[in-house]
Amino acid sequence: MINQPETIIIVGAGHAGGRAALTLREEGFDGRLIMVGDEVHLPYERPPLSKGLLQGTAQLHSYSLCDAARLDQLAIEHIAGHSATRLDTERRELHLDDGRVLPYDGLLLATGGRARRLPQVPAHWPNVLYLRTHDEALLLRDHLQPGARLVVVGGGFIGLEVAATARALGCQVILLEAGERLAARVLPERLSAALLALHQEQGVDVRLAVKISAVLGAERAAAVQLADGSQLACDLLVVGIGMQPNVDLARAGGLDIGQGIQVDACLGTTAEGVYAAGDVCEFRLRPGSPFQRQETWRNAEAQGRHAALNLLGRQLPFSDLPAFWSDQFAWGLQTVGSTGNNAPDATRELPNGAFLLFYLDGDQRLQGVSGWGQGASIGKDIKLCERLILDGKVLSSTELADPGVSLKQLLRG
Ligand code: FAD
Ligand code: NAP
Repeated sequence: MINQPETIIIVGAGHAGGRAALTLREEGFDGRLIMVGDEVHLPYERPPLSKGLLQGTAQLHSYSLCDAARLDQLAIEHIAGHSATRLDTERRELHLDDGRVLPYDGLLLATGGRARRLPQVPAHWPNVLYLRTHDEALLLRDHLQPGARLVVVGGGFIGLEVAATARALGCQVILLEAGERLAARVLPERLSAALLALHQEQGVDVRLAVKISAVLGAERAAAVQLADGSQLACDLLVVGIGMQPNVDLARAGGLDIGQGIQVDACLGTTAEGVYAAGDVCEFRLRPGSPFQRQETWRNAEAQGRHAALNLLGRQLPFSDLPAFWSDQFAWGLQTVGSTGNNAPDATRELPNGAFLLFYLDGDQRLQGVSGWGQGASIGKDIKLCERLILDGKVLSSTELADPGVSLKQLLRG
């Protein structure tokens, strides 16, 4: 029988933290369970913030992980609106911003990240907005009035999803991306091109390879000046230039930090009894592979759940396929497995402009797939591809590219 901890603390009441807390109770943990979060809300999922919430089709309760009654019923103490300010791993104590000191036996760091700030802009300008939290999304929603002139900085997922939603709401949108193509760090060229064509067709003015030299204005952003001297007038500036993992607490506590909080195969940090999960967690996908972070819904869900099991002493190595999706206008992209931004090994063209991009490993086994199609049309194919990846069959690029060979057929082998 494994010794159960008496008190477990979760720092960060976001997606991974919330999932971990619920899992601990589902798995029978009956000790003291505390979840500390600096947001005032119950744990929630973030994908609707740039989509349904801005469009007015989703509300906080629909994407919260649970309601207050459920937390009460499960005896999860939610300390909301407070930050953890110091982690003492020797004494096993967590300090909060109001002076409270909480002892723990097991602790999970699920502190996520914050939006990177645009250096050219004073922090207090009211029409320069970032998007990470529910409250920021509400503020942004209020600004997205028909006819508003919006400049979006960053052609990653935040920038693209906000541009799509704002355009659908009748705003005029200019999107500025520093790189040569959209979302170039995570997507292959074909998907960047599909996104560019879609946004242009929907009236977004996309500018690639641009450099911002200044943001002009007095007490609010009035225009963005580019390095070529041109000026773009704006009512609103939305910045989506990446996120910075919240590692300060862990770093000051003496934990190993790289691009995130480094963990072993079981998501344990270098401090005993302390685990990490979600966007902040830097882990190896396979033994010996380089450290990486995953900034996705699926990773927060899977690692939150997994860390909870290991906090209970299970010692299970973490493994899950990376995966993410994005919805923009009436189109969706989905990715599962290891894909990256390189050219695929095979491309399957599907009806109505949809396609699948396949990535094989050195042994001709499927290791990742990206798909693009209207609505959720490629969802079923992506699920089949996930099974093909897990199955580990040797496949040829020719059959993967051939829409006449069904994916089910390939699965049956
Ligand atoms: P978070 O959800 O950020 O939670 C961390 C929490 O910890 C936060 O509440 C933070 O305030 C709190 N915290 C930090 N430090 C402290 C401290 N010292 N004390 C107390 N509390 C602290 N992924 C997809 O796969 N598909 C999508 O379509 C998609 N859309 C997204 C849209 C938006 C607008 C955003 C922002 C993200 C989106 N993602 C999407 C990514 C996904 O939501 C994240 O990967 C996921 O939320 C990460 O969960 P997390 O628990 O690690 O971090
Ligand atoms: P991101 O995906 O890292 O994209 C940021 C983009 O901005 C990159 O293309 C980057 O180019 C560009 N950029 C950086 N500095 C710039 C500058 N000064 N001017 C113009 N462009 C600049 O980050 P994000 O879009 O801000 O998203 C933040 C987080 O939310 C991420 O964790 C993301 O995964 C998550 N999110 C996910 C989804 C989804 O999965 N559907 C949706 C929304 C948000 P370089 O790469 O060349 O630096």
